[in-house]
Amino acid sequence: MKIPAMPLPSNAKRSVQFRVPLVEDCIEFCDVNEDFDEQLTTLYLRTLMTSEGADPLEWTGEDRRTALWWIAVHLADQEADLAYEYPCEHCGEWHQFAFDMRDLDKDLIRLKALPKINGSVEIDGKATGFFIEPLNGHALEYLEKLRQARTQAPEDAYDKWSAKIRTAEVMACITFDDEDPLEPFTDRLEARIDRILKQPVTTVLQPISKQVMSALDDMHHGLKSAYIEGKIYIFPPPARCPNYDPTGKEDAWPVTALRFPFLAHKYIPSV
Ligand SMILES: [Zn+2]
Repeated sequence: MKIPAMPLPSNAKRSVQFRVPLVEDCIEFCDVNEDFDEQLTTLYLRTLMTSEGADPLEWTGEDRRTALWWIAVHLADQEADLAYEYPCEHCGEWHQFAFDMRDLDKDLIRLKALPKINGSVEIDGKATGFFIEPLNGHALEYLEKLRQARTQAPEDAYDKWSAKIRTAEVMACITFDDEDPLEPFTDRLEARIDRILKQPVTTVLQPISKQVMSALDDMHHGLKSAYIEGKIYIFPPPARCPNYDPTGKEDAWPVTALRFPFLAHKYIPSV
């Protein structure tokens, strides 16, 4: 059994090769903690990657998630079901919902390369340029640590931590033109956050955030997903309510558009 080479969704000219996970790999990764999904993703992809090239920490989040999915669908010779429960907006009951993860390829987007998008903002009266990129593995692991810190903080500090996370999310997508790219990612990110903390929200952070959102809209790639309040969601095919007039025409049954969190461990085979 061989997993075909995966063209990176952010850069389809580059292909990555993975080997099949062994029993020992699955034992190694079975006791995962959902709260460290990004760390798990990095370790799992590093373990299975057999081709040369950039470390999965340098990949975009979309590339990382697509890789987990790619390995999983090529390991399953039959259906590869993901099962969830959801509250039905039509009858109010909870329904089981399973879908074949192979169906997610219908919305898979591959780019020849990420577009180069620059932005600019005035800081201390000086036009300051930056370029914009989707969140990469370093950024996602950093944000995961902030989410961890939020769960351990006192309850009344929750909103404060959420605001910190939102700020970090935006700042992790840009690189100021005057940064030293050889400095470690986290050091640069923290320096960048420090730099804007003492700046006005409306004339610095908000314009940066707006430019980042608009640029990311032009950079969609990988599986259809969305980053909502620090969690990645995927969009399975809509679910039909099984309680709604089952005698009627199936086409007329009401459907619910669903989104489920993308959880790395659901894509790692269990022993
Ligand atoms: Zn229902």
